[in-house]
Amino acid sequence: MPWFGMDIGGTLVKLVYFEPTDISKDESITESETIRKISHYLKSNSAYGKTGKRDVHLQMDKCCINGRYGTLHFLRFPTSEMPVFLTLAKSKGIANMSSTVCATGGGAYKFEEDFRREVALKLHKFDEMDSLIHGIHFIEAYNVQECYYIQDPLDEEKYKKMPFDFSHPYPFLVVNIGSGVSILSVSSPDQYKRVTGTSIGGGTFLGLCSLLTGCETFEEAIALAKKGDSTKVDKLVKDIYGGDYPKFGLSGDTVACSFGNMMSKEKREKASREDLARATLITVTNNIGSIARMCATNEKVERVVFVGNFLRVNQVSMRLLAYAMDFWSGGALKALFLQHEGYFGAVGCLLELMKTGS
Ligand code: ADP
Repeated sequence: MPWFGMDIGGTLVKLVYFEPTDISKDESITESETIRKISHYLKSNSAYGKTGKRDVHLQMDKCCINGRYGTLHFLRFPTSEMPVFLTLAKSKGIANMSSTVCATGGGAYKFEEDFRREVALKLHKFDEMDSLIHGIHFIEAYNVQECYYIQDPLDEEKYKKMPFDFSHPYPFLVVNIGSGVSILSVSSPDQYKRVTGTSIGGGTFLGLCSLLTGCETFEEAIALAKKGDSTKVDKLVKDIYGGDYPKFGLSGDTVACSFGNMMSKEKREKASREDLARATLITVTNNIGSIARMCATNEKVERVVFVGNFLRVNQVSMRLLAYAMDFWSGGALKALFLQHEGYFGAVGCLLELMKTGS
C-alpha cells in the first residue's frame, strides 16, 4: 500500500509519496495491479505531462515512518492542472481503489468535491499550518544536511551553503514563502502560533514579473532576474543624497524607494526586462525580510527558517535574506534554509495519514 500526502496550494500542488520497501509476502499478494501500475508510473519518470515534475534530488531512501520502511518521493505540478491530474488519475484506475487520500492547503477544500466526483476519492483534510510544522520537524530530524545557512552571501564567487546544527532550535520563526507568506513562531515541538502574514509573496513576484517582462514561467523569471541590475529601476539613498546618510547608518547603496526610478521616462527606456525582473525579486524579498525581522524581534527569537517554493532555484533571494537578516539585526538574527523547501506541508499530511494507519 503506497501512501500519499498532498498539499494543494494557490500555485503548486505538492505530492509526497511513501513507497514501502518492507512489503511482506501477504501484502504483496493483496497489492492490486492498479497500485503496482501507479507506483511504477511515478517511480520510472521524473516528468509527467508538460508540467508535472519529480524532484529526484530530494528523494529520501530508507525512511522509517510509523514502523514502516520505505522511500519518500517528492512531486509537484501547477494547481491550475488539477483537472488534468484528475483525468489522468481516473485513467490509471484510481477510482476503483476506494482508498483515502489526505490533503492539506486551501485546495483540499476547493477540490474536495472534484475528487469525489471524478475519482471517487474521499479527501482526508488536515490543517496546513499543523502539517507544515509537523513536516519540518520530521524531515529536519531525519536529514543531517537538511538545515543550512549561507556563508558570505554577498560574495558572488565565495558564497556557500553551510550545514547548521538544528538540534536545539527553540524558539524559532518559520517564514513560509508560497504564493503569499505566513509567519509562524514555534516555541516547542508541539507549540506554535501564526504571528502574521503578507499577501506580497512568491505569487506577487511571478505575477508582477509576468506583467513587466512577459515571461512565461517561474524558472524564466528567475533566470532574467539573475542577469538584471535592480539599481537601474530602484531609487537608492545615493540617488537622493548623493552619497551615504551616515546619521542613521544608511549606505548610499541602500534602496530608498523600490521602483522609484521608473517615474522617469528616460530611465524607463533604459531598464531592460532583466533589470525589471531583478527589481521585482528584490522588492518582494526585501519586504518579506523586513517583516520577518520585525516579527523575530517581537517574538524574541534568533533563528528564522525560510521555506516555501519561492526559494526554489532562487539563490538571489536566499542570499539577500541571509545578508539582510544579519546586517539589519547587527548579527543577532540568523537566516536558515531547508533543502526540501516547499514540501513540508505535504510531508506533515502524509505523517498524519500514516499515524492513523489508513
Ligand atoms: P503555494 O502553496 O501557495 O502554491 P508554494 O510554496 O508551492 O506555495 O510556492 C509557490 C511559489 O513558488 C510561486 O508563487 C512561485 O513564486 C514559486 N515557484 C517555484 N517554482 C515554481 C513553478 N515551477 N511554477 C510556479 N511557481 C513556482
